[in-house]
Amino acid sequence: MSEPDQTRAVHADRGTSRDGGPVVPPIHQSATFHSADERAFAAAAVEPRGQDFYTRYGNPDHAHVAAVLAELENAETALVTASGMGALTTTVLSLVSAGDHVIGQTSTYGGTASLLTNLLPRLGIHTTQVDQTDPQEFARAMTPRTKLVLLETPSNPLLRITDLRAVTELARAHDARTVVDSTFATPVNQRPLELGADLVLHSATKYLNGHSDVSAGAVAGPAELLDRVWETGVVTGATLGPFDAWLLLRGLRTLPLRMERHNANGQALAEALRTHPGVTAVHYPGLESHPQHALAAEQMSGYGGVLAVEFTGGYTAASTFIERLRYPRRAASLGGVESLAVHPGAMWAGVLDEQQLADAGIPPGLVRLAAGIEESSDLVSDVLAAAEGL
Ligand SMILES: *Cc1c(COP(=O)(O)O)cnc(C)c1O
Repeated sequence: MSEPDQTRAVHADRGTSRDGGPVVPPIHQSATFHSADERAFAAAAVEPRGQDFYTRYGNPDHAHVAAVLAELENAETALVTASGMGALTTTVLSLVSAGDHVIGQTSTYGGTASLLTNLLPRLGIHTTQVDQTDPQEFARAMTPRTKLVLLETPSNPLLRITDLRAVTELARAHDARTVVDSTFATPVNQRPLELGADLVLHSATKYLNGHSDVSAGAVAGPAELLDRVWETGVVTGATLGPFDAWLLLRGLRTLPLRMERHNANGQALAEALRTHPGVTAVHYPGLESHPQHALAAEQMSGYGGVLAVEFTGGYTAASTFIERLRYPRRAASLGGVESLAVHPGAMWAGVLDEQQLADAGIPPGLVRLAAGIEESSDLVSDVLAAAEGL
């Protein structure tokens, strides 16, 4: 297929609009849709991802976003949800039942970790978390009841890479489905469906929307599976509001353009900090020193704006670094136009003790930087000044 490019992001949903309508789709700020025709109304009620029955079932603003995202992911179809966790939970619940087994990763988003260690086990669904850097770990964790392998690459916050070809092939051989959380990569940098995944999902709160003003999620893949996710979504009710869908569409229009700058800024910051005397390690898949750089280069075409930096001076150095930054502000999230920074050891102090953080692979001196789309040179001088003497 051709590259997911700026042209597709701008025009992919044209088929969703009627001729003679506005160039920019209106916000269908309506919870419900009317019909004078009894039969048409009944048909609308059962149409997966339809757009003219009831907004929890679907909405024209959802349909525009889904059309663009499906095109960018090279998927048959897509759907949107109220958050990334809404997409994850709805998708997982649509694919597994009590007694089934799910394999996830040890390095994974905090909400996904809770899903694996808390919610799913409470529902009688067994879970195992493995080191994603070794495909053999997935093979060893497979049981006859394994129905789903839940992947995340690059992973949050350590930027570890999962070999998508190897692990999806392995799962297929065991009749297990694979779902990939591709939030850090976006379809601009990585297209998991082309590498063998059954479904790809996103926290659209991050890069897809790109402006830190919407909470949203999305899932893309074959219609047969998306129908099941949609049916479950009607029950979980993780419905994206029409205005938020409209904002998400507006954000998606510039995704490829923004990703170019995020990729360049992520690389520039990683290179600038890598040789700094106060820095023990920079985790960024675009660095040749990343232990999985070759794999990343094989399955990704760019590496995004997120990097994790480990300071030799530990917790204190990480705190001082964030306090000194001029542009990146301390805030959770990533993928917006503005740079952000978090110090997980400090952010989770009220929730996890040092041992729990260590078990999750998070040292006290780790800072996660999410490069925005500011001028690279401004960000580089800013982080170098903040790291001075640390
Ligand atoms: C933020 C994030 C999520 C959760 O998304 P929300 O939109 O906050 O619900 C899931 N996965 C990854 C990798 C994330 O970064």
